[in-house]
Amino acid sequence: MSATNIRLYVDHTLGAGQSVLLGRDQANYLFNVMRLKPGDSIALFNGRDGEWCATVAEAGKRRGTLEVQEQTAPLRLPPDLWLMFAPIKKARTDFIVEKAAEMGAARILPIQSEFTNSERIRQDRLQAHAIEAAEQCGGTYVPEVAPLARLDTLLTEWPEERQLMFCDEGLAGDKGPLPDKSSGQPWGILIGPEGGFSERERKRLRDLPFTHAVSLGPRILRADTAAVAAMTLWQAKLGDWSQS
Ligand code: SAH
Repeated sequence: MSATNIRLYVDHTLGAGQSVLLGRDQANYLFNVMRLKPGDSIALFNGRDGEWCATVAEAGKRRGTLEVQEQTAPLRLPPDLWLMFAPIKKARTDFIVEKAAEMGAARILPIQSEFTNSERIRQDRLQAHAIEAAEQCGGTYVPEVAPLARLDTLLTEWPEERQLMFCDEGLAGDKGPLPDKSSGQPWGILIGPEGGFSERERKRLRDLPFTHAVSLGPRILRADTAAVAAMTLWQAKLGDWSQS
């Protein structure tokens, strides 16, 4: 019997004494790949109930049961930050979703803009990446990956109190203003596709009352780099890295 460092996301209510029936993939991972035995313990989270310690009660090749013991960490929600980005090539899109989950985005929204390269996304696959990232970074929360939506529609339906950090490659080199931490408002970050934003989109974005156009330094970054840089900037100034 041993305590392992394994953290597993389960779509199951967690509470002392609960039994969690494992699906085929999870049983395969725990018992065939990681070679866990009855009595071994792992950490479980479901995005809602914090982190719990659970022990293996039954270990089969295709199924198994865990028994939930006690809570080891409370639910820690990230700040109310949406990351919006235009999907690019598969591996780079996967990277953006993984980093968004690690960096503490509350919601990930793939968007279709005028110059978006990709017409489709595999939402289930991207959601699985967000789950994996939460498992490995010690998160107790999993950001939801929203379905692909048109940028124009999102902006039309935008909740007015939510501020928008618009990463505008046209400002490269300027010093972009981000407001100081004050009211704890919800935010969104918007990153464009490889082709950048069209003039029409740029004008629309700039005219909206909740938009803050920012520069990410003097060089043009690739969209995946820009996503990480923007989240770093935001987290350090307005999010859960900064002292309020
Ligand atoms: N093809 C465009 C660049 C697109 S880069 C051009 O040559 O102008 C992809 C996205 O990353 C941009 O739409 C923007 O949201 C973000 N980005 C990259 N570098 C940036 C910078 N220096 N400042 C602000 N945003 C940037």
